[in-house]
Amino acid sequence: EKFDIADPLRTQLILKENHLRPQKSLGQNFLCTPQVLNQIIASAQLTATDIVLEIGPGIGGLTQQLAKSAAQVFAFEIDQRLLPILKTNLANYPNITLLNLDFLKLDLQQFWQQNRLTDRQVKVVANLPYYITTPILFKLLAAPVPLQQLVLMMQKEVAERLIAQPGHRAYGALSVLVQLRSQVTLTHEVAPQAFIPQPRVDSAIVSFDILKQPRYPIADDRQFQKFVQAVFRQKRKTLWNNLLKYVGAGSKQKQLLEQVFQNCHLEHNIRAEQLSLAALVQLNNQINQYFK
Ligand code: SAM
Repeated sequence: EKFDIADPLRTQLILKENHLRPQKSLGQNFLCTPQVLNQIIASAQLTATDIVLEIGPGIGGLTQQLAKSAAQVFAFEIDQRLLPILKTNLANYPNITLLNLDFLKLDLQQFWQQNRLTDRQVKVVANLPYYITTPILFKLLAAPVPLQQLVLMMQKEVAERLIAQPGHRAYGALSVLVQLRSQVTLTHEVAPQAFIPQPRVDSAIVSFDILKQPRYPIADDRQFQKFVQAVFRQKRKTLWNNLLKYVGAGSKQKQLLEQVFQNCHLEHNIRAEQLSLAALVQLNNQINQYFK
């Protein structure tokens, strides 16, 4: 291929020729730095048999590089204006399927069946629209289909919360819920200058190896999510106080919670951010037993 799309001059030209104003509300910051694209591709360790799902191809810079390394790329773009541009830019890559869809509304199970993906290695690689990072992440981590790996560009501050360990300032509900289901690593930090237009925040590339099973068995995903969010709701309060809100602050509940704390060897002045994933799972199991 003579031209790579993800280059500052080429990107400016494509925007100009198509009278396209990037839409802030859709998180449109286009990557135009080949070095950063290489970092994403390297983090994804793509092989010639991999299937890749890309969320938000934009004008196709990353899509083009993905198509060179993978067997097949499915790219989901919500902005209808970009579809003709993508079709033109990516005309030389028959292994790209463009879909004008809101990824959050995609029925993954149905998509797997329609495209016979059952026995394939599927990875998600994307420079995310930052305004929906968390919903996309939760959708992918709880997907009813087997995903092997995610490589996602996101706001650096969110990336730091995802990888944070107990005791760290950024450790919270997001860290716990993500680390339950994946092995997560921040592979590269990325400056605003890598994009056109430049976002106002620093970015980072994060790689998630999806575990076959959650690290610890969880009976009810929804319930566990609610528990974790309740435990970290007010980070400056003690675990005890946050949990009293969660179970209801009557005297009966206090007694039961007291028992749970004893069983888990927890002090009253401990804060949620000191608890490991294993300790939180144990605590949740105990609470579910005592508060049936
Ligand atoms: N992949 C391109 C790149 O790296 O230059 C563009 C990335 S840009 C940060 C995010 C893209 O996601 C935009 O093209 C935007 O229109 C698209 N987008 C926003 N919300 C979306 C959604 N719900 N479903 C699919 N695409 C979405």
